[in-house]
Amino acid sequence: MAYDPVARHKVIKRRVVRGELRKYYRFRTDRWYGGIATGDCVGCGLLCKFCWVRDPLLFNPTNVGSFYNPHEVARKLLSKARKKGLTQLRLSGGEPTIGRSHLLRLLDKLRWEGHLFILETNGILIGSDKSYAKDLAGFPFLHVRVSIKGCDRDEFTMLTNSMPEGFDLQLRALEYLFDVGVSCNPAVMISFSSPKKLERLRRRIFVMMPSLMEEFEEEELILYPHVLDRLNRFNVSYRTAFQPNRVPPESE
Ligand code: SF4
Repeated sequence: MAYDPVARHKVIKRRVVRGELRKYYRFRTDRWYGGIATGDCVGCGLLCKFCWVRDPLLFNPTNVGSFYNPHEVARKLLSKARKKGLTQLRLSGGEPTIGRSHLLRLLDKLRWEGHLFILETNGILIGSDKSYAKDLAGFPFLHVRVSIKGCDRDEFTMLTNSMPEGFDLQLRALEYLFDVGVSCNPAVMISFSSPKKLERLRRRIFVMMPSLMEEFEEEELILYPHVLDRLNRFNVSYRTAFQPNRVPPESE
């Protein structure tokens, strides 16, 4: 049965957030965005069948990772960035908007460090509460990448098993962020979509927020073995994908 994506994020929050402490499973530097220091959060309120996060992290967040306060996370990200001479920081996941006070406190700690901060999110919690976008508007060094699952409600439900209204929340997150002046872009998982559906979504976003089209990102599956396993397990077929060693530089 389809689940309510907002309610599920709240359930997961109880497992991965304690006050201002938030669970992470690793800190790393990565090649994406031309080089970025990254914190990977534990726990997400969606259950994407193509998710690259491994099963125990996605399905059993209570038993993995460790709790960190915002100060510790800031220190870890800055230290990773400094060691590699990087100027960009990122939270990925899992879903980093779970634990709002942790995230806002972390951003506050990074305010004067001179880095670009990229928040990768599925948009569900921001789209369900405009005040979240307003809070994020206080951080001019922030860019929010809203990762949209499929090109319409049906695809969203097929890919996540969530109620179809979740798809609208992702688009609403973009609208809210855009309205309050937060730098943001849509990153659409297109590997399961027909060109026609993709075009329809592009037009929909263009009508709502024409200037976001410059940064309309098309995201494709990367067939890591555990991703392929999961797709097979759920019997999901895809139209396009990259082999892990053949991801073109423009997708990095
Ligand atoms: S939203 Fe992202 S982290 Fe969450 S299940 Fe989907 S792909 Fe995984």
